[in-house]
Parts: sequence; structure tokens; C-alpha cells
Amino acid sequence: MDIIKISESAKEKTFSKKIKVYENGKFIEKEFLISSENPCCGTDKLPSFSLSGGLFPFSSSVLTDKSSELFILPGFVDVHVHLREPGFSYKETIETGTAAAAAGGFTSVCSMPNLNPAPDCIENLSVQTSLIKQNAKIHVFPYACITKGSKGESLSDMEELSEHVIAFTDDGRGVQSDEMMLAAMTKAKSLNKMIVAHCEDERYGTSAESEYLQVERDLKLVAKTGCRYHLCHASAKESIQLIREAKKAGLPVSVETAPHYLVFCDEDVKDSGDFKMNPPIRKKEDQEALIEGICDGTIDMIATDHAPHSAEEKSRGFKNSLNGIVGLETAFPVIYTNFVKKGIISFEKLIQLMSDNPRRIFGIPSVENDGILVETNAKYTVNREEFRTMGRSMPYDGMEVYGKCLATFINGRMVK
Ligand SMILES: [Zn+2]
Repeated sequence: MDIIKISESAKEKTFSKKIKVYENGKFIEKEFLISSENPCCGTDKLPSFSLSGGLFPFSSSVLTDKSSELFILPGFVDVHVHLREPGFSYKETIETGTAAAAAGGFTSVCSMPNLNPAPDCIENLSVQTSLIKQNAKIHVFPYACITKGSKGESLSDMEELSEHVIAFTDDGRGVQSDEMMLAAMTKAKSLNKMIVAHCEDERYGTSAESEYLQVERDLKLVAKTGCRYHLCHASAKESIQLIREAKKAGLPVSVETAPHYLVFCDEDVKDSGDFKMNPPIRKKEDQEALIEGICDGTIDMIATDHAPHSAEEKSRGFKNSLNGIVGLETAFPVIYTNFVKKGIISFEKLIQLMSDNPRRIFGIPSVENDGILVETNAKYTVNREEFRTMGRSMPYDGMEVYGKCLATFINGRMVK
């Protein structure tokens, strides 16, 4: 144990506890020293600690409760988050969005580029990156647009942006022109960057066809260019089958889906903004195909598509509310409760889907002493009024769940 120094007063309030730590794909039980002194508030500053064993400064009755099931996990990674700043700070800010992420157990997120100014050139991107530097509580990796203003008409300054962004995407809109997508993939390939695609052929509304026909087109372009390709928020069964076949053929493709497509189908949708997002929640057979895709490894990761809006923008019923729901603070308990607790996937698999795979595929580094402490035995009720995000709209309010993130650490510092 790498304890540095414990003051006399801290020693009295220190006890040891065995906690299961996820390391290299499995859980290993380790002994931690817990201190009830809060390192953030106390005048008696506690030494730094290590997540791999050592002093763990945390004050909670959960830790002394014998029925608690405690785990230390690598932080979750969400590759699909709308932080809304710059441009839409009435919906969310980098500060509130990353506080919500930390509360949900995420230590890294990728921020979507439907912003104002849109990050389609270095100058515009720098507006966002300086806000991230000032206000982000966790690691934020911005995307850049594929096309100028995500309008689909001309490519963004991909070459200049390349080394400063995680990947390129026009999330919120599909790239309609085949020629434009071919040009984007050719460029991205030469820069060794990934194209992250929101697939929606606007000739078909938001139907399943609108998604999978564009996936089909894109996969042909991937075969032609060799560009690395990631499909956003897959919702239709045909999309999963196309990705399954593309993987079999050896194409460099990956895919995410979001918790709401796994938990709900169209029969569950209520006339409320809480169920309004794009792509929409589809049929039972789509939901089942997504779950199968999770289980057989076709789907690489779960991303939230956290997309906050104002209360007014989500109050107009299903038909007229804006697209998008919040998800950072519910993703872990919702997946844990509906899939791990029910025995559909293992806890290790959840961690692969929410941490290992996005990290590996997007090249997001593991930082020493980043991590989260979670408890999985106590049941609680999702309450949107407790959220850190400015958004409130989502379909899980009142749901009874298991799996709570008790603390989130960035570089050994507690940020939640
Ligand atoms: Zn999207």
C-alpha cells in the first residue's frame, strides 16, 4: 500500500475495507484504508491516495454498512455527449454537463460539434477548448465537424483540426451527398482519423430506412477508402446486421447504441418530450436485435447521446418537443438494473461496453488514479430534480434502480 503520511487526527478516523477492483478485465479484491475525513473540506489535509490500494478518503455510511457491495471501476467513457457550449448555454454548460458526467461515473466524454460557433476551423474550435480548460470537471475530447457548419456542403478544415480533435462527425445530421462522404472518408483516412456518423437519409424522414440505407452506403465507402468508421446511436435491426457483416468482412467499423433503445420499444413511448429523440425508439424487434448485438459483441459500446434542452423546449408533448434527452446520470444504473441485475450481461461486460471498448476504439488514455467507486446493492429511485445537468427530460424518472456512483476521481482528486 502506498500510503504517504497520515496525520494523527486522521488516523483515528481511518479503518480498512475490502473492495473489488476491476483490473484487466476482472475483479480483484483489495484492501483499502478509508478515512472519514473529507479531504476537500478539512483543514487537516489528507495525503493523496491511490485507487489501486492505499488511503481512500471518503465519508459515507455506505462504506461502513455491511450489506454494501462496493466496487472500484475505471471511469466510464461516453463518446456521445452534447455539452451545448459555446452557443446554447441556456440548455447546458461545460461546467454543468461535466458535473453531470462525474456524478454518473464518467471520467471522459467526447463533446459533439453542433455548437455555435461550430468547430469547423481552428478558430471556432478554440472557443470551445478554452471553455473546456476553464470549466470541465472531467476529461473532455471535442469532435470537429465533417462539413462546414455541419451543412453537408463543403468539408471543414479537417487537416488543421485533425490533431486537436478526437474524430470528425456531423452528429445531428446525416451527410446527404455520397460524394461529400467519400471526400470526407478519403481525407480522414489520410489523417488517420475516424468518421463518426449520424446516419439519416433525409428522403426517408426518421424511419428505420433513413438510418440503415445510409449505413449501407457508408459501409460501401469504408470498403472503398479503408477509413475507420463509427456508427452513432444505432437503433434499427438492419443497421446491426449490416455492421455485423461489415465486421465479418474485416472492415474497420464500430458501433454504439444508447440505453433508451435497449430499455424501451415503441409500445412504451408516452406522449411526452421525455420520449422524444432522434433516432426514435423503434419496434420490439429492433430492441431485441440491439440486445442481441450487445450480447454477441456486434455492438461495441453504450453511449448516452446526452442532449439537454430547456424545460419549455421539452414541454410540447411528443410531437413538438425538441429531439434529445439527458442520460449521463442514469446510464450506469439503467444498464446495471436492466441487464446485469437480470443476468443478461455480466458486470464485466458492462464495464467493457462503457469503459474498455470506447477507450480502446477512440484511443482515450487511461489516467493513473482516475476511477470511480460504485455501490450495487441498495435500491433507489431516479429523481430528475437531483440531477446536475440543466436538462430534466428523460424517460427514467421514478424508475427503481440499482447501481450508484458514490465518488468519481480525476487524477486522485474527488470531483463528485
Ligand atoms: Zn445523432
